[in-house]
Amino acid sequence: MIFTQGRQRATLSFFMSAQLNLPQLQAVHHLNGPCLVLAGAGSGKTRVITHKIAQLIQSGVPAERIAAITFTNKAASEMRERARQLVGKAAGSVRICTFHALGVWVLRQSAQAIGLSAQFSIMDASDVHSLIKDAGGTTDKGEANRWQWQISGWKNQGLSPQAALSQAQGDDDRTAALVYERYQERLRAYQAVDFDDLILLPLRAFEQHEEVRRHWESVFDHILVDEYQDTNAIQYEWLKLMVGPKGSFTAVGDDDQSIYGWRGATLDNLKRLPEDFPALRVIKLEQNYRSTTSILQAANQLIAPNPKLFPKRLFSELGAGEPVRILDADHEEHEADRVVARIQSLRAGQQAMGAGASFKEWKHFAVLYRANHQAKVIEQALRRAQIPYKVSGGQSFFERTEIRDLCSWFRLWTNQDDDPAFLRAVTTPKRGIGHQTLEKLGQFAASHHVSLFEALFQNSLHTVLTGRAHEGLRHFGQNVNDWAYRAKHAVGQTAALAFMMEWLKELNYEQHLYELEDNERLAASRWDNVLEFCNWMARRCGGAEEDPTSLQLHTPEKSLLDVAQSIALMSTLSERDQDQNVVTLSTLHAAKGLEWPHVMLVGVNEGSLPFQSGDESSAGLDIDPLRLQEERRLMYVGITRAQHTLLVSWCKRRKRGRELQAAQPSRFIAEMAVPADTQKEDPRAKLRALREEFAQRAAATAAAIKDKD
Ligand code: ATP
Ligand code: MG
Repeated sequence: MIFTQGRQRATLSFFMSAQLNLPQLQAVHHLNGPCLVLAGAGSGKTRVITHKIAQLIQSGVPAERIAAITFTNKAASEMRERARQLVGKAAGSVRICTFHALGVWVLRQSAQAIGLSAQFSIMDASDVHSLIKDAGGTTDKGEANRWQWQISGWKNQGLSPQAALSQAQGDDDRTAALVYERYQERLRAYQAVDFDDLILLPLRAFEQHEEVRRHWESVFDHILVDEYQDTNAIQYEWLKLMVGPKGSFTAVGDDDQSIYGWRGATLDNLKRLPEDFPALRVIKLEQNYRSTTSILQAANQLIAPNPKLFPKRLFSELGAGEPVRILDADHEEHEADRVVARIQSLRAGQQAMGAGASFKEWKHFAVLYRANHQAKVIEQALRRAQIPYKVSGGQSFFERTEIRDLCSWFRLWTNQDDDPAFLRAVTTPKRGIGHQTLEKLGQFAASHHVSLFEALFQNSLHTVLTGRAHEGLRHFGQNVNDWAYRAKHAVGQTAALAFMMEWLKELNYEQHLYELEDNERLAASRWDNVLEFCNWMARRCGGAEEDPTSLQLHTPEKSLLDVAQSIALMSTLSERDQDQNVVTLSTLHAAKGLEWPHVMLVGVNEGSLPFQSGDESSAGLDIDPLRLQEERRLMYVGITRAQHTLLVSWCKRRKRGRELQAAQPSRFIAEMAVPADTQKEDPRAKLRALREEFAQRAAATAAAIKDKD
């Protein structure tokens, strides 16, 4: 047995070293103490993390004492899969998840220390929006958006409402700080948290309660963080406390790919690492394994004007490959048609030469753009050409009304203080409980200092309601309790699915969808989403997939209630994403960390990328220099997603309202400095050349025939 393990270990070691270069190996073998891998795009930073997980396990660290933090859920599931390929089942016990998922897990265990119920609800952005409207006493969407943005910004700097108020400059700031205070009161009353709290509250618990911090310091032996350049101030503070004085962690990142400054991410976290951890080992990677030299050169040229935090060099040994193409389209529809034509011609093998020519499946193509709305025209063209595609980074599955309806029920079952979930559940589907009844219930609950749900069971409630209304509410309350009990006991895939089907039937939910929608096809597709969601939930109850926020990693089966507690963090039904053979459409932000053989960056015009608001451009102002740098990094991220071919396209005219207006190519196109003779891709020129060739051949043939005569 020992012999076999030893042999397995030796094989793994050999296997890993064959897949890593020297500095990567150094990073992987630096097991104790702090380590920072700082390197450009495609240099194998993420690969270092996966291999280091394997190395840690191999050197005897128990898998459950390792945490790896990724930027998205999708990246987490990919990393888990890679780790599984390296170390097998043990990878399932490593806590691989996002900062937010880690926050949920920590809070579910330590919330009580800061006076929060362990069953807290998680409010998503649209719940937060309604709460803020309510807290600010407004129905104005724009105003609520501004407050929401500002409050989130304060939370990401770790500011309390009181601190925000004392720092406020001007009336607008003061009003927003007061709204922040009232918003926090609501969250507390509902025993709810928002996404920012998932980082801020664990940090507070660690700062304010030594026993909590001591406990968590000892939970992990090593913490690995991918995309470190996009962490924000409070994530860093929290990480620092979690790794404790021994500081055993590995952070990997690239300052040139920091693209979330607008959401509070800060490069200060990179600068502070060597100061806060004097023992920090900094390792640089210089070889890019992803892209051809033509692509890499364009990327290096582009990013050159940005100030450098750390000097970096990046080279590739993959050969020049296809030159980078620049395409000028007449307008957006034309651009979309050209994108389709390019996909088709690359698939037909007419263009890409060398290694790129063998990547011809739909999944080898990605079309990237700056803003979600740019996808629409591309989608239409792909549909016309019957090319299968998926849009990532667009509306998430969990933002759909029908899924949010069901989630509000789940939330209410786990946390009966969650008033927003109560209000949604009690009115969806309609059950004859009207607005006035709910208003009276609200006043009653407020005066008795109880949640809406608790109010249902108070003896004096009948004094403020009519008999029928009271009866209706009591009946609803009993239903909720009954369903919550059954959901708690629906353990495992089959039981969970059977319960959900019965529950939806009792709820009459399908009928509700058809009554709501005039369009039958839309109602049917909503119902399909519901079924898909139920199947997905049931599979998670079966323990088929690990859930990073679950308290026990090893439970094979879970109850529906257990699973329901972590769904607020999901944005896609992740299994659906894997191995789909379709073209990817994605925003540049959502493309971070990923790679495709063929990439097309579209709409690369001044105003779009770099993005400039309408106000700025109509005032004739140039873009703020710091924002310009971040936009340049975004372009750098886009270019460096490409492995074999890259097309960058812009439109000569663009729609403004209903009109087509003249538009300029992005300054970034010139900055890429693509050699002039290779950059133009013009099918008309190609056609002209072909015609000329045919004409010459015809003339030659005619001459030959004439000679014969
Ligand atoms: P990004 O900055 O975009 O996040 P990254 O630095 O994380 O990129 P990876 O995604 O880890 O880079 O690696 C880029 C590509 O290079 C992947 O396809 C990976 O499998 C491959 N790769 C990384 N290291 C090596 C290596 N030593 N030998 C061969 N291929 C490698
Ligand atoms: Mg990476």
